[in-house]
Amino acid sequence: MSLIQQPVGIIRTPYKQKFAIPRQPGLVNSAVGIIQFLPQFSDPNILRDIEQFSHLWLIFQFHATAEQGWSPLVRPPRLGGNQKTGVFATRSTFRPNNMGLSVVEFIKVAQKQKKLELHVRGMDLLDGTPILDIKPYLPYADALPDAKGGFAQHTPTLMAVTFSPLAIQQVNLFEQQYPDLKALISQVLAQDPRPAYRPSSEPDKLYGMSLYELNIQWRVSAGCCQVEDIQQID
Ligand code: SAH
Repeated sequence: MSLIQQPVGIIRTPYKQKFAIPRQPGLVNSAVGIIQFLPQFSDPNILRDIEQFSHLWLIFQFHATAEQGWSPLVRPPRLGGNQKTGVFATRSTFRPNNMGLSVVEFIKVAQKQKKLELHVRGMDLLDGTPILDIKPYLPYADALPDAKGGFAQHTPTLMAVTFSPLAIQQVNLFEQQYPDLKALISQVLAQDPRPAYRPSSEPDKLYGMSLYELNIQWRVSAGCCQVEDIQQID
């Protein structure tokens, strides 16, 4: 048996590459995403009353890793990146059917030219991710404060983030184009996006990540992250 799915839209996000995207939604609330509906799903009635809900579930396709297939055992970052566990006991991208599920904050519905848009906050999605379905988050059914969270019981601890004098000047300049950029960079880096499993031969390594059209360089030393340089990608 096979199923054919058709996306209802594509989400535009600041995350242009997989590296440094938060590992779950809700961790980086400065990140705003815009779902652009495909023409056949652009009837505004499709979203009528959605503003009654503060949060929404997005069901989407991990399109950037779909071709790499899946495996029964995966290595989740929360287990240090070197220990294997069953794919259905994780939120790994390498799963049968490549489907992702994220709860995001509703911002607004908009209409640009004739295109219907839904603006959301806090997603953990790559720019261009196909959205398959959207549902309201229902606190009475979906929020389970006593639930057991296994090896991912607690919110990951945050890393302190500072900016070098050069990076401060750069971020202030780029904020004219990207409001909230400083908060976005700080929240993304506070998650410590470095690979969970790292060779000890690379302390203080300079990393690069992209947000919007910017390349941001940073390093971690003595448990604190410093942004060193921010450049426009041409
Ligand atoms: N909240 C979702 C996703 C968790 S995995 C769920 O539980 O199903 C989150 C990671 O997915 C991100 O860190 C990013 O590296 C990766 N990711 C996000 N969008 C993706 C896409 N379109 N294709 C492949 N990987 C993606």
